[in-house]
Amino acid sequence: MRTVTIVGASLSGLYAARELRAQGFEGRLVIVGDEAHRPYDRPPLSKDFLTGRTDETQLALTDPEETADLQAEWLLGIRARGLDPRTRTVLLDDGRAVPTDGLVIATGASARRLPGDHLTGIHTLRTLDDARALREELTRGPRRVVVIGAGFIGAETASSCAALGHRVTVIEAAPLPLLPQLGPEMAAVCAELHRRGGVELITGTGVAALRGTGAVMAVTGALGEGAVTGVAGACGAAGAMTGVAGACGAAGAVTGVAGALGAGAVTGVAEPYGEGVVTGVAGSHGWGAVTGAAGPPGSSAVAGSAGPRGSGTVTGVALTDGRTLPADIVIIGIGATPNTGWLTGSTLALHDGVLCDDGCVTSLPQVVAVGDVARVGGSRAEHWTSATEQPRVAVANLLAGRTVETVCSVPYFWSDQYGARIQFAGRRQDGDTVRIVEGDATAPDGGGFLALYEREGCTTAVLAVDRPRPFLRVRRELARGVGNVRAPSQSS
Ligand SMILES: Cc1cc2nc3c(=O)[nH]c(=O)nc-3n(C[C@H](O)[C@H](O)[C@H](O)COP(=O)(O)OP(=O)(O)OC[C@H]3O[C@@H](n4cnc5c(N)ncnc54)[C@H](O)[C@@H]3O)c2cc1C
Repeated sequence: MRTVTIVGASLSGLYAARELRAQGFEGRLVIVGDEAHRPYDRPPLSKDFLTGRTDETQLALTDPEETADLQAEWLLGIRARGLDPRTRTVLLDDGRAVPTDGLVIATGASARRLPGDHLTGIHTLRTLDDARALREELTRGPRRVVVIGAGFIGAETASSCAALGHRVTVIEAAPLPLLPQLGPEMAAVCAELHRRGGVELITGTGVAALRGTGAVMAVTGALGEGAVTGVAGACGAAGAMTGVAGACGAAGAVTGVAGALGAGAVTGVAEPYGEGVVTGVAGSHGWGAVTGAAGPPGSSAVAGSAGPRGSGTVTGVALTDGRTLPADIVIIGIGATPNTGWLTGSTLALHDGVLCDDGCVTSLPQVVAVGDVARVGGSRAEHWTSATEQPRVAVANLLAGRTVETVCSVPYFWSDQYGARIQFAGRRQDGDTVRIVEGDATAPDGGGFLALYEREGCTTAVLAVDRPRPFLRVRRELARGVGNVRAPSQSS
């Protein structure tokens, strides 16, 4: 193999580059990234970077010495727009083509948006540029902030905004935040964290429209029974934008936008760094039933066109229960979609990610996928740890020309909210029972706790709030396949 190209110059792409060199690849290494920045770390963006405790230099994932050692050609600020498997060529947006013997797909995911959400004051949070823009706006004095979606990114961003002294409301269509990830008992604990942090949490209500200066308007159609399929989204000439209704999330995840329009309708959600919860969703990306601005005929959706960016300023968020929350800043945290658009027509199998076997190998043996974009052995994770663990296996298989190794790690993620560190590892399923084995989840002043999820006498997952040491031990036991994990009191 003389040339290997990595598309996606971020976390998993960088780890793949490191592995290629560490595993003895001495050929030409090309790294293509559509962001202008060298690889940087995303987790701090919603946490210490937003509050000003971390600056941009601390986000860097590489240093000049390592960059030199990698001996890679970095093509930054340039998007890959296609893959021609016949000629084994990666096509770039500027018309160039990179012939390659091996390809690592590491293109991650993009923040899900709402149709027409181009008003000034509306933000998503996925990239350094997103975080810079939001941070800049948050420094202009006290603001009324509405966060749409109480998933991890929504909750962390809300927490950071509250720490900066802003008035914050979080909207969540599901009855509790993080329900699909943590189950009802522990989701209730997370709801309590918002309240303790001085943030208003409104659950069980969707967003009908985003309102802005100038003419507005919004419509969410009077949708009929069953799943909502249409989107409303009418915009006034001055660019005020509106709303959305979702499609049902087949995996049952619920959050975010436009909730209960019509009987039985639930908005699907995508949860950044959740696992397996992303399914049908409202928005302009179109898997699931909804694409773009208008629903299909008969769904009563009303279409409109979005005003250009900056043609109005957000003033509020209209809820499906009839209320309107005034807002100076709106942050949309309704999940992310895997960046697979550039692979359309490439013959690779795509379905909510790039489909791979357990070893990150796609249907073409010389193409592997890693990180948020990869659906490995049937599941796609948006976790920092998966993005750093998968490249070792993917690269070994790429260099071998077939699957010689598989990924077998226990899913893990962490989240920092309201001064608490939440850590979760394992595979929870609905119906698992939860047992608190250390601390007290209901203590009014917090203090932390450790909870085990159990099914048929076996531990399936572990959740900790501010209990890093016992958490690590249980996580290790889960990784070793120990079914019946010892509670801390039994440990030496
Ligand atoms: C704000 C935020 C906070 C987070 N916090 C946590 C946390 O606390 N804990 C945790 O476990 N996880 C967290 N995560 C998730 C974690 O950061 C991701 O799982 C990780 O970044 C995935 O890495 P990746 O390289 O696969 O994808 P990405 O980091 O998304 O990188 C993909 C790169 O590919 C580029 N790209 C896309 N398409 C193309 C193309 N066609 N051509 C060229 N380049 C392209 C993208 O612009 C991007 O630079 C957080 C994520 C965010 C956004």
